[in-house]
Amino acid sequence: MTQNKFLKPLSLIKDLGHLIYPSSCLACENELATNENHICSICDNDLVRTSFHLFNEPSETDKRFWGRVQLKRTYSHFYYKKGGAIQQVLFNLKYKNDSAIGEHFGREIGKSIRSIDDFKTADAIIPIPLHYKKEFIRGYNQSEALAKGLSDIISVPVKSNYTKRTKHSETQTKKSRFQRWDNVSSIFAIHKSIKNLNHIIIIDDVVTTGSTMEALIRSIQNVAPKIEVSVVTLAIA
Ligand SMILES: [Zn+2]
Repeated sequence: MTQNKFLKPLSLIKDLGHLIYPSSCLACENELATNENHICSICDNDLVRTSFHLFNEPSETDKRFWGRVQLKRTYSHFYYKKGGAIQQVLFNLKYKNDSAIGEHFGREIGKSIRSIDDFKTADAIIPIPLHYKKEFIRGYNQSEALAKGLSDIISVPVKSNYTKRTKHSETQTKKSRFQRWDNVSSIFAIHKSIKNLNHIIIIDDVVTTGSTMEALIRSIQNVAPKIEVSVVTLAIA
């Protein structure tokens, strides 16, 4: 340590903080520069933001649910790109057992959607639940981490215990949408307290076919037919 550092206590604190807190990029895992936060500028440049919050016409995420479930508002923050930084972000978000990643992006989502009037009536954020065995193995639920970050910004509480995943669903990648629907239609249990809510935001890491989201929404609407539902995801594939 140089004598110069003693003369600059703030910079010393920042350098120490760099040692204590994770300082690698959550996409490429290279070390971050002191002015970078969670993600390096190269990876950040590779992330494609949808800007859905700036437009009023139907978004890709809206269209994904057309004719399936009635939604108040949808929002997805990034476009999924195979081989892009977003793929690594989603992978690390799921498997790295580091809630800071999800909370960081949850806050970023919050900063984009906090000015959207449709979201202002929301009274709960509900993360898509993982089966408890899966959550135990992974250590946490990545959607819950996103929910916490979003909650920090829009000041809407997270209600993780209102929904439960009761069945392990087998891997769905190679099935048709119709087969998937059968597989996911009855995998959720819903707490009856959900009836006390008026408008929920369901949050997930990525929307692909939307089947799991649709199944959860249908299960919720069976218990609370009048509830308004919005959908927020970190990415749309
Ligand atoms: Zn990076």
